[in-house]
Amino acid sequence: MIDLRSDTVTRPTPAMREAMARAEVGDDVWGDDPTVAALEAAVAERAGKAAGLFLPSGTQSNLAALLTHCQRGDAFIAGQLAHIYRDEGGGAAALGGIQAQPIEHDPDGTLPLDKVQAAIKGADIHHARTRLLALENTFRGRVLPADYQTEAIALARAHGLATHLDGARLFNAAVASGRPLAALCEGFDSVSLCFSKGLGAPVGSVLVGNEAFIARARRWRKTLGGGMRQVGILAAGCHHALEHHVGRLAEDHARARQLADGLADIEGIAVQACDTNMVFLAVREADGRALEAHLASRGILAAVGATTRLVLHLDISDDAIPRILAAFRTFVARAGA
Ligand SMILES: *Cc1c(COP(=O)(O)O)cnc(C)c1O
Repeated sequence: MIDLRSDTVTRPTPAMREAMARAEVGDDVWGDDPTVAALEAAVAERAGKAAGLFLPSGTQSNLAALLTHCQRGDAFIAGQLAHIYRDEGGGAAALGGIQAQPIEHDPDGTLPLDKVQAAIKGADIHHARTRLLALENTFRGRVLPADYQTEAIALARAHGLATHLDGARLFNAAVASGRPLAALCEGFDSVSLCFSKGLGAPVGSVLVGNEAFIARARRWRKTLGGGMRQVGILAAGCHHALEHHVGRLAEDHARARQLADGLADIEGIAVQACDTNMVFLAVREADGRALEAHLASRGILAAVGATTRLVLHLDISDDAIPRILAAFRTFVARAGA
């Protein structure tokens, strides 16, 4: 099966399973798990931050960050299509009493800074207090431009806002841009990184920030039910990914480009390439269901919708690309017949 639905579908490799099986463990709620501590320290160092916190999911990592930055009645600014606003079950509102202020994206995925500025509320008691600007990198497979990062952080600082980066796929951004992870984290008060996406670990995210921030986030993690015990078994999978699966993300990016180029040559398919491991395409709405079924009949899983996202990852090898292209070609040939 060629599963293009997401890079979350990867299975741990035999070497990763071995590292997990060998992991030294202790009760991490008591601070006794050396494997978790080693992962937190290693990720913090790579990110250029003082401290790290291991959490079971990116959603919980983003939520712990929101709860640490904001109080009840505070507001955070994020993109209308940002995961932290749109895809996390409304956690900020449901569990934190934190109001989201969504902003429309520019076509390149960034949040226009004049609109961000206009959305920052002053001290007037009528308003929720704007406390935080949350950005996402990569966003829909695109790398946030370096200048934009600098300008957005400067704007937030000038208005006394904290900054959070949802870096679920920040390692993809680092590999695609050739910039060190620490440069992509620079200036942000907190950054959330996922290991269960392209890096191929079964579970785990790490939130990084300064010592005081992480100490408070650790408290929220416990409140959210994310305090885990002999969890070095999972952290070991993430540490293995950090050491062995970062550089190879370039292969996913190359395959995504190859797939995008091949699809662009097929008439009737509008393709949008991105910088990293995703290909976005539009097919006529009427064809969506039929395309999904056609691909499935050829052993290819894809979630076809208004815009369809094909995601490349660890479990997709070079020989999958011609198979995927062939399946699209036969579909278009049939639909056109
Ligand atoms: C996957 C993802 C998350 C976190 O998702 P979990 O499934 O909770 O780990 C957060 N932000 C972005 C942009 C993501 O893609």
